[in-house]
Amino acid sequence: MPRTAADLAAADQRVLWHPFTQQQGWSEEVPLVIERAEGCTLWDADGSAYLDGVSSLWCNVHGHRHPRIDAAIAEQLGRVAHTTMLGLTHPPAIELAERLLAIAPDGLERVFYSDNGSTANEIALKMAYQWHHQRGEWWRSGFVCLKDSYHGDTIGSVSVGGIELFHALYRPLLFDTHHAEPGDAEDLRRILTEHGDRIAAVIVEPLVQGAAGMLLHPPGYLRAVRELCDEFGVFLICDEVATGFGRTGTMFACEQEDVTPDFLCLAKGITGGYLPLAATLTTGRVFEGFLGAHEDFRTFFHGHTYTGNPLACAAGIATLDVFEEERTLERVQDTIARLGELLDEHVAPLPAVREVRRRGLMTGIELHPHPLPVRMGHRVTLEARARGAIIRPLGDVVVLMPPLAMTGSELTRLVEITAEAISAATAAPALADVA
Ligand SMILES: *Cc1c(COP(=O)(O)O)cnc(C)c1O
Repeated sequence: MPRTAADLAAADQRVLWHPFTQQQGWSEEVPLVIERAEGCTLWDADGSAYLDGVSSLWCNVHGHRHPRIDAAIAEQLGRVAHTTMLGLTHPPAIELAERLLAIAPDGLERVFYSDNGSTANEIALKMAYQWHHQRGEWWRSGFVCLKDSYHGDTIGSVSVGGIELFHALYRPLLFDTHHAEPGDAEDLRRILTEHGDRIAAVIVEPLVQGAAGMLLHPPGYLRAVRELCDEFGVFLICDEVATGFGRTGTMFACEQEDVTPDFLCLAKGITGGYLPLAATLTTGRVFEGFLGAHEDFRTFFHGHTYTGNPLACAAGIATLDVFEEERTLERVQDTIARLGELLDEHVAPLPAVREVRRRGLMTGIELHPHPLPVRMGHRVTLEARARGAIIRPLGDVVVLMPPLAMTGSELTRLVEITAEAISAATAAPALADVA
């Protein structure tokens, strides 16, 4: 007998602790139990359907239960679910690495796997520092990140994070990092002029700072950052955990400014949003800095147990196959244009909306500010849920990030629901009970 939705929800409230969630509020709401999905639709345990408006937290690409990806995982499951990359290798890891290098910006020649975006970034940070150290410049231990940046939740990735709400509390646990003004190349120049000889790398989310609320950089900024890194002899780490795999309209955001980073960090969309996997791509120059005799100890002493998991790699290969077979990047251009029109028509004119920011499919709808206890972003998501769409806010920014596979009619429905949800949540009577 399958358990009822109510029974599952009660059990959730008894035993779970959810990420980025105030559990006190959680236990006052009825948790939505998602049981299955297909394409861009999720179904809850009661059988109600919801559009997946944020790609299951920014990772789904070709839709859920895509037959090609399902089959690839099942086929790999018939061989082996997990072995190790420590001292061994396996076909899916090799093939996916070849495929990633073939589509990545020119100059990236090596793939180091891990299993989430935070670790993909930490690996780049550690490699950058170790590379300089092994050249004798051990004093290059500093990093530069951007204000309001987000690179993950582990201590190293939080150290290069710039979101006060998430990161400030942990300051005593973190290594010191310089924070540059996003989009302002002169500010980065100032920091590098002052501290450049002690810096190992600059880390950025190219084009769009996602968790900051879809903060957009001005055109030319990424290119300028690349040139400054070259001028001061520091590495550039591009965190494409969110922007990668077509989300901004090109396979990788870096391409739009013709930039090859020294480290390209990938996760989220790499398996189409199916399984945990991440990759840190780097250059031959970085790789060669780690070569030496066994007893030189230039080894990169880092590796997670599930690094390069075969099922996840099989999903990754199938995800890239689908990009080719369905000409996803070509077709998504229409989806992106349509999304822009729909937002202009239904969302931008709403009195509650302060600004709509978007690059490709990555959309942030900033509302006029409300007092914190109102939890306006959250209210909007509850209204959207009642109308059949799952979205998740960042404070007062309502995020839309549909899967690349979302159809025109689904997209129309998603934007219409979002507009209605914003109107309903910001209507005066709804606010009266909080004020
Ligand atoms: C989500 C995200 C991360 C963290 O990835 P996890 O897999 O959650 O650890 C890092 N950087 C960016 C830009 C992200 O959006």
